Amino acid sequence: MNYIIKNATLVNEGQTFVASVFVSNGKIAKIVKEGKDGPSTGSGTLDPSAQVIDATGKYLIPGIIDEHVHFREPGLTHKADIYTESRAAVAGGVTSYMDMPNTNPHTTTQELLQQKFDLAAEKSLANYSFYLGATNDNLAEIVKTDPKKVCGIKLFMGSSTGNMLVDKNEVLVRLFRESPCLIAAHCEDEQTIHENTVCCKDLAAKGQVVLDASIHPFVRTMEACYKSSFKAVDMAEHFGARLHVLHVSTQRELSLFKNNIPLKDKKITAETCPHYLCFDNHDYEDKSFAIKCNPAIKSHRDKEALLQALHNGLIDTIGTDHAPHLKEEKFTGDYFTSKSGFPSIQHSLDIMANVLPNDLPLLVQLMCHNPAILYQIDRRGFIREGYHADLVLVDMNANHVISDEGEYSKCGWTPYNGIQSHSRVTHTFVNGNLVFENGVFHEQDKGARLCFNR
Ligand SMILES: [Zn+2]
Repeated sequence: MNYIIKNATLVNEGQTFVASVFVSNGKIAKIVKEGKDGPSTGSGTLDPSAQVIDATGKYLIPGIIDEHVHFREPGLTHKADIYTESRAAVAGGVTSYMDMPNTNPHTTTQELLQQKFDLAAEKSLANYSFYLGATNDNLAEIVKTDPKKVCGIKLFMGSSTGNMLVDKNEVLVRLFRESPCLIAAHCEDEQTIHENTVCCKDLAAKGQVVLDASIHPFVRTMEACYKSSFKAVDMAEHFGARLHVLHVSTQRELSLFKNNIPLKDKKITAETCPHYLCFDNHDYEDKSFAIKCNPAIKSHRDKEALLQALHNGLIDTIGTDHAPHLKEEKFTGDYFTSKSGFPSIQHSLDIMANVLPNDLPLLVQLMCHNPAILYQIDRRGFIREGYHADLVLVDMNANHVISDEGEYSKCGWTPYNGIQSHSRVTHTFVNGNLVFENGVFHEQDKGARLCFNR
């Protein structure tokens, strides 16, 4: 099926204008600005049987590219899986995602990586790529990674996620020197976190603190983030590696990044997530373990500084760190047993539209254009003729309250429950296929593997 998206307000490359977009054979065939004589529906290469979608009053943006998700498959599919989470993705206007290796088994070999690509080809509604995880002993696998076909290497920088802890200095040196593609790093210093944990337990035993969610930023502190991010940036600079620091959560880390060179020329870049811009430490009282995540959500000052960094270019991209856990895993235990992470992919557009009111061009830059530039994704992330037709229509006057009832993620709850939103995705196209239409999924066509121009 081909489409004509008529009279949409396009938000693309810093411009906002009314146009009609012709989608043909999976690609953006033609963009005709309002008032210009364009091809009629019957002319030239355009399909006379194309379905016309009246987009008057709605915004058309490039599909969101979420570079940081945990879809939990294989091995943790009681929480989430590629099918359910890719549905939540397209419902939220996300047309491409990059999934992390802390599944079960951990994705630390080329063979396990290929198995994930095979799974996604069968069941993902959105386009996909997968990170290979770095360990203390899989450098031989890492150097085999094809940078044109794989988004990057995930490094848990001194952070213990099972055997994906990389804490041997000689391994880090070789990784930063020899990695054939981008290194995406989770930066929190394990030693600092351990010391803080011991300290909090002592204070709790003396009755001086309560071990509730609000202590999380005192365990996973700003110092833990800075120490680890500093080390990663220092090593990347020294060895000339391509480093992307994930989920930056503190003001202090911002001093490690630059905004005086174009993104395409940067070798060291930074991501933050919607929850660090929407919540701060005051929200632990109300949200409790719902917003427990790693790194921790920190102070109001950190939140304000991160918001500023979106405007001044110190932060390059927004990724969700979508990390579903069941309600039981979050809420039935105590501070130490409550799992860190939560689902968010379905609401990243809603939350970022709240965080950046009346600034859709910046939202599109951070969530669509910049991930495409940063990862050098082939023909996605922009509304350009000849590009893959990953497109999202958004109604920006659809006032509603985000609720657990409307959650498509398998875990069935959202930390954004109760938050007012004014945006609603009405149509999501993936490779020119209309996969989500006013709350209805069309699931016959699957997403494609992302390719990279490296
Ligand atoms: Zn993550």
